[in-house]
Amino acid sequence: MTLRNELQSLKTTAKRIARARRIAHHEALDLIARKLRQPHWNALVAAWETGWRPEGDAVEALASAEKTIDPDVMAISILGIGQGVEEHGHIDGVPYTLEIDFEVVMWVEGRWAICVEHAPSKEPIIEIYDRSENNPILNTAFRSKALAICREAVERLRARIAADWPRRSTKPDAEGNAQHPLSKGVASRWYCLHCDGAFTASQMSENMWHCPKCSATPIDIFIAPFWKAA
Ligand SMILES: [Zn+2]
Repeated sequence: MTLRNELQSLKTTAKRIARARRIAHHEALDLIARKLRQPHWNALVAAWETGWRPEGDAVEALASAEKTIDPDVMAISILGIGQGVEEHGHIDGVPYTLEIDFEVVMWVEGRWAICVEHAPSKEPIIEIYDRSENNPILNTAFRSKALAICREAVERLRARIAADWPRRSTKPDAEGNAQHPLSKGVASRWYCLHCDGAFTASQMSENMWHCPKCSATPIDIFIAPFWKAA
């Protein structure tokens, strides 16, 4: 029997899933219960008390639920520019390079590049360096495949960043307050110095603390609009 068969260990796993996926703790508990073939967490606990234990293959299925916080995610270094992970793959036989380092960049040297910043409000940017007709990035199907790989990579990056944040930065509490991951202030309303916009804690946490309107970075987000003071 693995460690995972201990109830407490399942709760710890739920906390990690909740933080990495930016969902509520009870949602993560229910997700774990479903993976272990119980309808929800309370049913799992009730069954546990009568001696039920998850089967081995269900425990393996749980491992895939943790995919967003697997070693691939934690291996991403987000502290230093140029210290991220580089991956290589093929789309329709075309070899590409993918770098995850606070943003995701995928490219084929001299032909094209796709850049996706980690704020969910940012759209991917496609740069085309070679306008010849045989450049595969001009092909819609190829481009969709490339963008899908970038989206998967940026989800891993977001999970990696959120894994280092306080719990309340990834999901507001019952009163609607969230904690700024850098300043550590706690409030239900937040202000962008860059565009002067005001946003709820939930909008801020969903957009990784970048401004939902102008995508300004978290350092421009304040607990009060001090710049309006006379
Ligand atoms: Zn803004």
